[in-house]
Amino acid sequence: MKKRFYGMIITALCITLALACQAKRVKAQETSGEEGLENLQIMTRSSTIVINDPKELLRMAEAPGDVYDLACDIDMAGIEWKPFAFHGVLNGRGHSILNLTISQTGDAVRETYDGNMKVYDTYFAGMFDEMSGTICKVSDLNLVNLRIDVETDQPCFIGSFAGYMEDAKIENCSVQGILQLRAHDRMFGVGGMIGYGCGEIKDCTADVTLTCIDTDASTKDEQFMGGVCAAGYPDLHHNTVAIRGFDSDHGYVHDGGLIGMYMFYPKGKSYRGSITDNYASGKITFYEDNKNRRAYCNGFIGEIMNWDFENGRNKNDFVRDEVYTYDVDLMPHSCDNPVMKEEVVPPGCEFGYTKYVCETCGYEETDHYTLREHNYEWVTEKEATETDWGRKRGVCKDCGAETSELIPKIIPEPTPESEEQTAETLTETDADDAPKEQSSEVLQEKESLNQRIGENKGWILLISICITGIAAVIVWILWKRSNEKEA
Ligand SMILES: [Zn+2]
Ligand SMILES: [Zn+2]
Repeated sequence: MKKRFYGMIITALCITLALACQAKRVKAQETSGEEGLENLQIMTRSSTIVINDPKELLRMAEAPGDVYDLACDIDMAGIEWKPFAFHGVLNGRGHSILNLTISQTGDAVRETYDGNMKVYDTYFAGMFDEMSGTICKVSDLNLVNLRIDVETDQPCFIGSFAGYMEDAKIENCSVQGILQLRAHDRMFGVGGMIGYGCGEIKDCTADVTLTCIDTDASTKDEQFMGGVCAAGYPDLHHNTVAIRGFDSDHGYVHDGGLIGMYMFYPKGKSYRGSITDNYASGKITFYEDNKNRRAYCNGFIGEIMNWDFENGRNKNDFVRDEVYTYDVDLMPHSCDNPVMKEEVVPPGCEFGYTKYVCETCGYEETDHYTLREHNYEWVTEKEATETDWGRKRGVCKDCGAETSELIPKIIPEPTPESEEQTAETLTETDADDAPKEQSSEVLQEKESLNQRIGENKGWILLISICITGIAAVIVWILWKRSNEKEA
């Protein structure tokens, strides 16, 4: 009798075990959901790196072939930026980098060619010293108050986004900045978007003050300046340039509203270029201290070496301003008695900045931009709990700009015993487990994954209750039967 009773107990245990295995399989599904979330995080991390602050922007130099997204505007005030070669993809998502300041060339050395196909090993400066490769692209990025001031003894080109570009693309970007190069070695120049090279620049805006100074009057050199590009053969489509140029040279100048010198290279290169729908306005003031003068300067392209390009609907409103005194460098601000008055414009829905006005000559300049401070009204989208971060959405009452922010997890009321321990762990847990802000698509994907995990949790609870119930009933029946039989 007892044997039979134990047999029944074993059967009941087997049934319970089978049901538990079934539940475990569902549990495994939940785990794979969590794994999926983790995989998604790794995937998005490896495919697109999101940049939230100056430190993360600087870290681009460690992986210059990766794909990057800006998550917000970034203020680079007080940080020296060393140009590096970029081969990846940077999408600014419409955000701005403020006060990027550069005073040195990068490590890249590339060959550049003058109009006689002489070759020069050349150095470069810009946000990147070099942008190269057909996948390399910068888009939807604004450089606000970019400052480049480089002095060098080498052949050198500087440009806002890249000193040198090869086959890369710049699309839907803008720059507002002041660029200055002081050099004297044979071949050098300044460009509003890029210094030297080829590739494509499309739908961009440059509002730039460009200064190029030849620091040695005893040697003749080739000097280049362009609102978009100093020298090369980039394809330009639908760009708008406002240029204030100052070019002092004891050699040959090549100055253009769009491009200083348009030329295919290396020797024998055949190419069908395209320059359409661009607009250049402004003025280049220059001197060419040279008895054998050519003085190329006009609103489209300074000197055109190759005519094999589509040329359509380009317009300009440009002033060629040549001066004939060669002893004083031409500078944006060059009055004898500068008396600067400053006015701080605080940030609001637009960036703040400091405006400097010379009381003697009226020269104006803006500097020290500060990040926007919108007047947000906040709505909680998801309450924070003890285990999860919440999220709130802000809409600016003045301009309608939107943003979202994370709400920290709720910290439970400390009991007297745990108080000491909590105080120790608080500072660590508070910042370290904060989820990083990511682009909305990534957040949406994560949300749908979380939802799926949530649904699974419901099923697991239901099945667990069923298993416990069935097991209890089986044990009860078996116990009752064995009792009856013994009686
Ligand atoms: Zn002045
Ligand atoms: Zn606003």
